[in-house]
Amino acid sequence: MAYTLPSLPYAVEALEPSIDKMTMEIHHGRHHKAYVDNANKALESEPALASKPVEQLLREINQVPEKIRTALRNNAGGHANHTLFWEIMAPGAGGKPSGPLADDITKTFGDIGAFQGKIKEAALGRFGSGWSWLVLADGKLQVLSTPNQDSPLMEGQSPLLGIDVWEHAYYLKYQNKRADYVDAWWNVVNWSAVAERYAKAKAGK
Ligand code: MN
Repeated sequence: MAYTLPSLPYAVEALEPSIDKMTMEIHHGRHHKAYVDNANKALESEPALASKPVEQLLREINQVPEKIRTALRNNAGGHANHTLFWEIMAPGAGGKPSGPLADDITKTFGDIGAFQGKIKEAALGRFGSGWSWLVLADGKLQVLSTPNQDSPLMEGQSPLLGIDVWEHAYYLKYQNKRADYVDAWWNVVNWSAVAERYAKAKAGK
């Protein structure tokens, strides 16, 4: 069973002005598609691996045969990361989290603003390409960044929220101003989707 490119859950222009239409078209239709195509190509010789959900494959990345491990790290990682990314954004979203997720963020980081500061620090501190994440690790919230398309799943963590800080995610509109992109990104964060991921991760699913 090959991976497939998921449809965006909203129109390509729906996240304007925070994320522009052309960035969304290229990011989803070309970059994410390339990760899917390249992961499928790497899996052609390994039908047993190809039948696993991508999250499971990433959790077990160290058991993947060495000759295709890097290809899958990059491309199955890219597929999973982008699938999450589209889901945790929404038009007319933003604002603040609520419920148990908000309580845990406040308990862990002090307040939502302090948490957002940590995410920004991780985003700006990632040299080159990668992701800034909120994860659940050993039952605790944690902010971290990963290089390239590495997924927190590879470290046994559950990714809850991730901001893509590859230049392809923001360069057309923000050029080199990664900080401005991260600030604007909070206008499209879909907190209810993040809260759902939090509840599932807490329940061990
Ligand atoms: Mn990307």
